[in-house]
Amino acid sequence: MVANRGEIAVRVQQTLKTLGIATVAVYSDPDATAPHVLMADEAWPLGGESAAETYLDMEKIITIALRCGVEAIHPGYGFLSENPRFARTCAEAGIVFIGPSPESMEALGDKISSKELAQQAGAPVVPNSPPCDRVDEAVDRFLATWGFPLLVKAAAGGGGRGMRLVNSLEGLAPALESAGREAQAAFGDRRVFLERYIPRPRHVEIQVLADGMGNTLHLLERDCSIQRRYQKIIEETPSPFLTPELRRRMGEAAVAVTRSAGYVNAGTVEFLVDSETGEFYFLEMNTRLQVEHPITDEVLGIDLVEWQVRIASGEKLTLNQDDIQARGHAVECRIYAEDPYNDFAPSVGTLERWLPPTGPGLRLDSGVAQGQTVSTYYDPMLAKLIAWGPDRASSLHRMDLALSQFPVLGVVTNIQFLRQVIRHPKFMEGDYDTGFLSVNSELGRPDSSEEDLNLAQALAAWAMDQVPSQQTRIQAGPGAAQNNPWHTGGKLRLP
Ligand code: ADP
Ligand code: ADP
Ligand code: MG
Repeated sequence: MVANRGEIAVRVQQTLKTLGIATVAVYSDPDATAPHVLMADEAWPLGGESAAETYLDMEKIITIALRCGVEAIHPGYGFLSENPRFARTCAEAGIVFIGPSPESMEALGDKISSKELAQQAGAPVVPNSPPCDRVDEAVDRFLATWGFPLLVKAAAGGGGRGMRLVNSLEGLAPALESAGREAQAAFGDRRVFLERYIPRPRHVEIQVLADGMGNTLHLLERDCSIQRRYQKIIEETPSPFLTPELRRRMGEAAVAVTRSAGYVNAGTVEFLVDSETGEFYFLEMNTRLQVEHPITDEVLGIDLVEWQVRIASGEKLTLNQDDIQARGHAVECRIYAEDPYNDFAPSVGTLERWLPPTGPGLRLDSGVAQGQTVSTYYDPMLAKLIAWGPDRASSLHRMDLALSQFPVLGVVTNIQFLRQVIRHPKFMEGDYDTGFLSVNSELGRPDSSEEDLNLAQALAAWAMDQVPSQQTRIQAGPGAAQNNPWHTGGKLRLP
């Protein structure tokens, strides 16, 4: 069972199907005809619209899983993926949770305790205060050493939520209050703490894989410094910033943290790198598959989801650290239904036209189809476009062209904005940090000629659709499972 929606539920099922494993999807009312539902061997309604009454409802999900006799659950990212209680409930129900143990999730899910663990493992961490809800002695001590600016952060944080940049003492109490409130609403945990603010850092993270037999590897880095609201929108690997020496040291630090947490399965150790000094600091560990994992798949020629499944079914890692060599360069753009020229406001509507580009070196991980309605119930990410090339310049060039050939009608998207970033001279030079989008505020709405071209392409495609066609549409139906020669009748049996 894939207990998720959107592009990641499609992505995981693609791998399961390749492995000959039958899939079960679950879905909310608005997702009844979404691609992740149509492609599944079996699909079950969760009943309801909001995330809380559907993809976050453990009881409903486990009930369906037991009824279908699933052997394992892949949680995707977001929703229940980092919830130790869910992992534990799966285990109690005799279902394999494809991910780490609840204990390592607990140790690493909390930003404060994970930093203690990283420090014990010898990794440098960003200095922080203990949890605080008002300006007390511990806060005074932190201020005396580190001063302003600082970040207020939620201990349970994720997705950039519960974070506040504070520049002065006046701003501190209100920031503690509002971050705490946001954290309570988002994570059911209002604990916040202070962290030293690293000016203009690069966000560089290391992918790790560990099996249950003590083998731990790192799978190189991803540079995720192009962010809006502390959330990544463009990621690339290799990082244009890392020297082989820094890559080696960060890889070793990531493996040390993973080992000392007794961590098993795929995970990501996030670091901030001070672009002035080249010093790196442990930020947090994400105990799940990451949104931007495809660029690692592409440069290493592996399938991270396949490794997650193999490890969860008790297999041993057959890769060695020496096998891990990047081939070429990959970049990913997150395609959002949002208006980047209006404070990234989410956009809703029906996808009247959705015409993604194809071609050599391109991969689209998409969770939507033409005709589908985009609502405000869930995250506004529609798809991820990934371009590979033998070197950085060629993968960026492919991405640029692909973004220019991606007409969408019905919702506002960030496609033209992504293209402006990819073509920006500083980005092309690899000279950027997490402040890139706020510093380069000249990235305004592009020339109408570019947008007109995209619109013209979409209209041309629409006009062509009006020509009566002899083609019969092939629809996924209940017969799909029977026709699948890899169908294992529900047994987790890997070829
Ligand atoms: P990544 O670190 O993989 O790039 P993001 O931070 O962009 O991931 O988050 C991926 C998705 O998971 C987003 O939809 C985000 O809203 C969601 N998410 C991340 N952390 C949490 C969390 N702790 N609780 C709920 N949702 C989360
Ligand atoms: P989340 O759990 O929401 O992913 P992170 O702690 O991973 O939160 O931080 C998300 C982003 O916020 C980072 O990639 C970085 O851009 C920014 N950030 C976080 N901590 C710091 C810091 N101490 N100094 C500067 N920027 C930071
Ligand atoms: Mg993070």
